[in-house]
Amino acid sequence: LEPAFQFMLRVRTPGGVSTPEQWLVMDELAQKYGNQTLKLTTRQAFQMHGILKWNMKQTIQDIYSSKLDTIAACGDVNRNVMCNPNPDQSDIHQEVFDWSQQLSDYLLPKTRAYYELWFDEEKVVSTPEQDELEPMYGALYLPRKFKIGIAVPPSNDIDVFSQDIGFIAIVENKKLVGFNVAIGGGMGMTHGDEATYPQLAKVIGFVKPNQILELSEKLITIQRDYGNRSERKNARFKYTVDRLGLEAVVEELEHRLGWKLEKARDFQFDSNGDRYGWVKGSKGKWHFTLFVEGGRIIDQENYPLMTGLREIAKVHTGDFRLTANQNLVIANVTSHKKKKINELIEAYQLTDGKHYSALRRSSLACVALPTCGLAMAEAERYLPSLVTQIEEIVDSNGLTDKEITIRMTGCPNSCARPTLAEIGFIGKAPGKYNMYLGAAFDGSRLSKMYRENIGEAEIISILNELLPQYAKEREEQEHFGDFLIRKNIIKATTDGTNFHQ
Ligand code: SF4
Repeated sequence: LEPAFQFMLRVRTPGGVSTPEQWLVMDELAQKYGNQTLKLTTRQAFQMHGILKWNMKQTIQDIYSSKLDTIAACGDVNRNVMCNPNPDQSDIHQEVFDWSQQLSDYLLPKTRAYYELWFDEEKVVSTPEQDELEPMYGALYLPRKFKIGIAVPPSNDIDVFSQDIGFIAIVENKKLVGFNVAIGGGMGMTHGDEATYPQLAKVIGFVKPNQILELSEKLITIQRDYGNRSERKNARFKYTVDRLGLEAVVEELEHRLGWKLEKARDFQFDSNGDRYGWVKGSKGKWHFTLFVEGGRIIDQENYPLMTGLREIAKVHTGDFRLTANQNLVIANVTSHKKKKINELIEAYQLTDGKHYSALRRSSLACVALPTCGLAMAEAERYLPSLVTQIEEIVDSNGLTDKEITIRMTGCPNSCARPTLAEIGFIGKAPGKYNMYLGAAFDGSRLSKMYRENIGEAEIISILNELLPQYAKEREEQEHFGDFLIRKNIIKATTDGTNFHQ
């Protein structure tokens, strides 16, 4: 008798776009084989939890039948390519999304192992030809996972500087002319090991749209050849870039490309969060961004989110877009359908006021306990109640509508990018967190550790001191992270290499 091993399954959805039909398939599989919930991840992918081992094959096959798949959603390869859902500029979004899709497909491993394992395809290639089979990844694949994202300013919702390669779309005269390229970002670190740190990607130049596939491939091969394969904790591309030096990496890149990058163009980000509610897009279609706390699609008492979205998917003719902030855009809604969808949003109370304070809307939490094996503390299950307590401080200081980014993860792997939040928490032990402050609201500056290994009482006491001070002494339009730095409450992190100082 085999134990009932259960698994998490992550679905690759480049740019987070899925059709209503695909939504219904994911919903059905979550009911049938999963734990009757879906998780929208911080990389715009679906996660299903609680799938029993003997149901895995059928689940993977059913996902594949809906034209989604789980290929390279994990592993030491390029992961789900992120892309700004940008509902109010849909023609640019479409073009940028097309590039994210192409990148995702182009960088997929070529091995047929996935089909051999899950679709009973006959094994036709033996291992000695692996180098030929995977000219980019090679026989050993990459030293670590690799992440790519595309942002469309002024929104930095995908946290472009947290990526191994971040592309920043440059739009001139309403046309996509190319991308600034940023390299060497990454969030993960290890508690107590200062040789590991979060780092922000640095802009190295500008390329035309049709150059991003080749450029990404060459950067991946640099990481393949120079990445640290003896120490996994230092194996991400950010450490390779910092060890070799940015200039040396760019020189090697241009040598492999045989052409030079152009000078980076100007761009401006204003936030790394989402904008909620209805907006009309440039082609007359409507888009509704729905706040999904912790990205968890679940039915709760008086908040039947999963059922409501299922009913919307049944009538929706546009698409769904998973955002990098774990929210959901019901996108490309025709004027004709808008009334019906709005009725369903109201009928299922999907915008119930209690889910909508500015602080809560700006919150992110990784899955952590009980389903992530790396978690040292709670995140998704705990952050909502912590936010409720912080809301009391925020409300009593007139900051109810002030967006302050707050993120929590159960371990320093940092899946919810906590060191890019103005208030960040990383789990240390059950009920204990390191607290980080001072990141920029637009995702352009990392935070720094403010207190180590603290519990709820101390967190509340600290914020009871800092938030009232912010309410009284902030400058017009000044964000919380910037305020803390101006007041010397926390030192600015100017580069990941001084994150621990
Ligand atoms: Fe990621 Fe760590 Fe959270 Fe698990 S506990 S989801 S590895 S950040």
